[in-house]
Amino acid sequence: MVVGEGRKGLHMKQLVLIGGGHAHLHAIRHFSTEVRKQYEIILISASPYQYYSGMFSGYAEGLYEQDGIRFDLRALAEQAGIRWMEGCVTRVDRVGRRVMTDMGDVLPFDVLSINVGSVSNSLFGHQGLVMKPSYKITEAIHKMRMAENPIVIGGGAAGVEMALSLAAWRGAHRIGGVMRMVTRSRLLPDGSDGLSRKVKEWMRREGIQVFENEHIHDLQRGNLLTDRQALIVDQMLVAIGSQSPSLLRESGFDTDRAGAMLVNDHLQSETDPGIFGAGDCVTLSRHPSLPKNGVYAIRQAPVLSKNLQRYMMGKPLTSFEPQETYLSILSLGKKKGLLRYGDFYWFGHSSWLMKDWIDRNFMRANSFISSSSKRK
Ligand SMILES: Cc1cc2nc3c(=O)[nH]c(=O)nc-3n(C[C@H](O)[C@H](O)[C@H](O)COP(=O)(O)OP(=O)(O)OC[C@H]3O[C@@H](n4cnc5c(N)ncnc54)[C@H](O)[C@@H]3O)c2cc1C
Repeated sequence: MVVGEGRKGLHMKQLVLIGGGHAHLHAIRHFSTEVRKQYEIILISASPYQYYSGMFSGYAEGLYEQDGIRFDLRALAEQAGIRWMEGCVTRVDRVGRRVMTDMGDVLPFDVLSINVGSVSNSLFGHQGLVMKPSYKITEAIHKMRMAENPIVIGGGAAGVEMALSLAAWRGAHRIGGVMRMVTRSRLLPDGSDGLSRKVKEWMRREGIQVFENEHIHDLQRGNLLTDRQALIVDQMLVAIGSQSPSLLRESGFDTDRAGAMLVNDHLQSETDPGIFGAGDCVTLSRHPSLPKNGVYAIRQAPVLSKNLQRYMMGKPLTSFEPQETYLSILSLGKKKGLLRYGDFYWFGHSSWLMKDWIDRNFMRANSFISSSSKRK
């Protein structure tokens, strides 16, 4: 079915926003009247909810309710006067100027913006619970909370946060079984040896068994086989990085090796100037090794929003200049956190308080509807 054509009259052009990621959450609140007079704006996303990953750990620990960690995209779009469509986009036909969804819908566009995030890598192609796309997170957390033999795979920031938060919830609810982590390098490989050792000691104190520098070879009849041992497992949360959704490569965009669309400093596709993008699903051609995280996705948001409008109005575009150092705070469970800024780090309750404040502020700032990051 072709949707959207001529809804407000044939003279209206269409701006289609694919994905309800950070940049589009920002953009939908900032379209000018001038733009709205000429363009119908449509937001299409795979789920009616956009989950905020900064609060996954707090949700896993039971500190936040589900509605406190997600945005209702349909309600936000309606309040912003933007047309909402639920659907998973499977292909962009650049020549025909239309996008196709898994439900068989076809959506024409004049200008397109893509903010579809990333997809978690799974183990052996399809094994394990994943956190991206982020609407899968609640199911993953529920299964990990109740598992008899849970294992988190991957000792980066996401794996460490989730292992500690899940362990805290399980401890508070007296769920038996030991939380384990297997990682092929040391913990937090992007930090110093000293930080890695401290985090390992912290996890040990919280009752988590950590197996570092271990490679996983196979999963056979409920046993995870590493190069050193066999570990009984009934649920495993896989936190070994992510890649871009296949739709970008399959639609013929210039991409990097992980399938992220290459964009210039204006966040404009290197393949097609009428197509923009931001967040995890893009790689800046001039900064190919910039990490994929929410910090950069949020920083790109105002640039994307401005440039979409400038492009549609025929005005010169502005550039995104990434800054090198940024603050990150990991939740360590039990309202303790690890703050990191460059080589500096700080463990404790004050770090968690700052994270909680930043995350709840983010939810408030991006909600038209009553702010709802409910802390128990
Ligand atoms: C446990 C965990 C904790 C994290 N904590 C932090 C943190 O504290 N700080 C930080 O900076 N980063 C953090 N990250 C990384 C962060 O989640 C991502 O970098 C960030 O979400 C990227 O934002 P985005 O806007 O690109 O996409 P996303 O937030 O992933 O949003 C993408 C949107 O697109 C939709 N979508 C996906 N595919 C399609 C499709 N084909 N068609 C239509 N819609 C689609 C999705 O439903 C979703 O709404 C964490 C990640 C994890 C896993």
